[in-house]
Amino acid sequence: MELRIAHLYAHFLNIYGDRGNIVALSKRAMWRDIDVEIKAIDLKDEIDPDYWDLYFIGGGQDKQQIVIAEDLLAKAERLRDAANQKAVFLTVCGGYQLLGHYYRPHQGPELRGISLIDAYTVAGNRRMIGNVVVKRNDGSTLVGFENHSGKTFLGKDVQSLGKVVVGNGNNGEDKQEGAQAGTVYGTYLHGSLLPKNPAFTDNLIQQALARRYGDVKLRQLNDTLEEQAHKRALVLPA
Ligand code: GLN
Repeated sequence: MELRIAHLYAHFLNIYGDRGNIVALSKRAMWRDIDVEIKAIDLKDEIDPDYWDLYFIGGGQDKQQIVIAEDLLAKAERLRDAANQKAVFLTVCGGYQLLGHYYRPHQGPELRGISLIDAYTVAGNRRMIGNVVVKRNDGSTLVGFENHSGKTFLGKDVQSLGKVVVGNGNNGEDKQEGAQAGTVYGTYLHGSLLPKNPAFTDNLIQQALARRYGDVKLRQLNDTLEEQAHKRALVLPA
């Protein structure tokens, strides 16, 4: 088996260490003898929506988002096609914001998003920075670190990733963090997110492989270190 990962705008949306998610995905696949192909998809690069199993977009400052927003719109149809074929999308912060309908920053133009997630984002008047703990519906937790001024509000039928128990999450108001629309995920959790959330990582890998291989069972790894890091992060101050 092979896991094919498209890392969109790797050279632009790269200042919050979100590349650690690519490392976690590829390592957890390779530890199970699954081959991994990773390609940095840049401005003006074509996308084959039938090829990639997982798309990753990291976070970035408003100025980087302005640079890539137009190019992302040009890729929207193929990305929508990929999402309809159940490719997995993991998008963080700035990348997440542009998967909604729009991101209205403090200065500069409103940035149109590609509406893979029914949500919109407006810049808030304070930066939300700090540790975050999210309680999911199944009782599990996600831990990470947030650093954003954008406040994201979900459409009425969009599921969040869970309830914020520490930190701000989407907007610091409705106690929700992130979003899930089918196999498309958005989150404000940097950290990077996946190394300290192994079960969530494996779930993304399974969904990404299911697109071409059907129901794949991943063998259990020794997650002692990952679980220790997760437990430690649960008790960090906001
Ligand atoms: N520039 C956006 C904001 O400040 C996204 C920041 C990020 O990607 N961490 O909300």
